[in-house]
Amino acid sequence: MRARFWGTRGSCPAPGAHTLRFGGNTTCLELRTDDDGLVIFDAGSGIRELGLTLAAASGGAPVRGDVFFSHAHWDHIQGLPFFTPAFQKGNQFRLFGSPALERSLEVVLRQQMSPVVFPVAFDQLSARMEFAPFGSYAHDGNGYSLRAINVRHPGGALGFRVNPPGAPDRSIVFIPDNELDRDGDRAEDASTRDALVDFARGARILIHDAMYTGAEYMNHRGWGHSSYRDAVDFAIAAEVETLVLFHHEPERSDDALDAMLALCHQMVSERNGHVRVIAAAEGESLEV
Ligand SMILES: [Zn+2]
Ligand SMILES: [Zn+2]
Repeated sequence: MRARFWGTRGSCPAPGAHTLRFGGNTTCLELRTDDDGLVIFDAGSGIRELGLTLAAASGGAPVRGDVFFSHAHWDHIQGLPFFTPAFQKGNQFRLFGSPALERSLEVVLRQQMSPVVFPVAFDQLSARMEFAPFGSYAHDGNGYSLRAINVRHPGGALGFRVNPPGAPDRSIVFIPDNELDRDGDRAEDASTRDALVDFARGARILIHDAMYTGAEYMNHRGWGHSSYRDAVDFAIAAEVETLVLFHHEPERSDDALDAMLALCHQMVSERNGHVRVIAAAEGESLEV
């Protein structure tokens, strides 16, 4: 299986000279199954360029894929109206969203294409866009098995664990927006964290929200994001092979991300951990 980053940024696109290496587009991850099936996670601004690439590669042949939405915040849906394959008749996409959202994914995606905010209505998309039931938080697709879990994020959000069928040792865990809150002292916090550690345990790759420094986090408690220190702690506890820092703060420059990575490496060695830590970079791929 191969995962490729098309958008790594959190909250708001941040193009410019200071984000060239790690990327300025908001969340979008492309997954290719062993037999080249297409699975997409989130439709931030990164999905625009993924769409252009899919359209060019298809040579006019139908494009089919499953699209999973962690949640419906802007930075995870704003690219969908610019996803070229959605405008091509014959293409087919199944859209999966959390059943726990206050307003359903379908309603939000339709509203972001209502005339007052966007010129083209959702129903004018020529591809078949089918909202798929996801009440069981699990899905066996063509060439992949997926499970989801509720995470801590305002309005609700999902984390995903995906692997080839029958190969749980080749798992990728994708948790783009989540507040780990290691200082949470309520019993509910402890059980939530334990369930999440179990969910991610032993994954080859854990892609996790690491938006803040420790100082930034103290000013943003309750906003639904994690510090890089909490992400490293979590990765060590879950005994994953590789932690990929994700949902980069829009103001975080490439050089500042390098510095953050160095602090992560130092932290892992101080704790005698075995986790490799890297930062998600637009255009880069990882294989399991
Ligand atoms: Zn986000
Ligand atoms: Zn969010």
